Amino acid sequence: AAEFDGLRAIVTGGASGIGAATASYLMERGCAVAVLDLAPASAPEGSVPITCDVGDTASVEAAVDEAVRALGGVDIVVNNAGIGAQGTVEDNDDDEWRRVFEVNVLGIVRVSRAALPHLRKSDHAAIVNTSSIAATAGLPQRALYSASKGAAYSLTLAMAADHVREGIRVNCVSPGTADTPWVARLLDKAPDPAAERAALNARQPHGRLVSAQEVAAAIAYLASPINGSTTGTSLPVDGGMNSL
Ligand code: NAD
Repeated sequence: AAEFDGLRAIVTGGASGIGAATASYLMERGCAVAVLDLAPASAPEGSVPITCDVGDTASVEAAVDEAVRALGGVDIVVNNAGIGAQGTVEDNDDDEWRRVFEVNVLGIVRVSRAALPHLRKSDHAAIVNTSSIAATAGLPQRALYSASKGAAYSLTLAMAADHVREGIRVNCVSPGTADTPWVARLLDKAPDPAAERAALNARQPHGRLVSAQEVAAAIAYLASPINGSTTGTSLPVDGGMNSL
């Protein structure tokens, strides 16, 4: 039998990048997947695409209900939807802070809250959140983004403690710079995108960007039923950047 046979997953932000790679990776291993995304039209083939804004409570509640109906329950939640922000504390105003926290932090809270009653019914319940190397690296020009990903990390530890006795594991991945449409969009803004990409590759300890598939594999590892004793951890997927 395949590793995820009979299991059902919700993947937020699963229509692009890391989330899409995760949805595909899980489906290839037997998992049924619902993709909750602002733009679910590009969700991987074979998944259940559901429109959802994780920044909005009513939207999340309706989308999780729809996913549970379509899948017949849920065992795995991958809280991956996220947005970026650049700048120092002087560059982003209060509204921008609220906008990013609504998605990157409260998005995790809302989807988890709606899914927990269903996860309690599963024998292999797991939540995997997408944090970032930014949570702990002290990167310049990333005050707001780093704080939001630090919150995602802290939330992972606290939720793990709260739900371990209910048989629900909670972990996060902390990717370095990953080759996704998000990063491609940023590179495209540079005067010479190819040169910028080469420079970015050179800045990584292993000489290249992390692939979305590598992050997907780490998420699947943390979500896997073979991994029932790992909870409250962050798994870096960053080519060694974290250990420098
Ligand atoms: P991406 O932009 O390629 O994909 C993000 C997906 O999330 C998109 O499909 C988008 O529609 C969806 N989304 C955005 N806001 C949403 C909302 N409010 N509700 C529902 N869906 C929403 O990005 P990616 O690079 O794959 O990033 C995925 C996650 O990984 C994010 O949480 C990001 O912070 C994190 N991450 C990315 C990198 C990187 O270098 N790419 C590094 C570390 C962490």
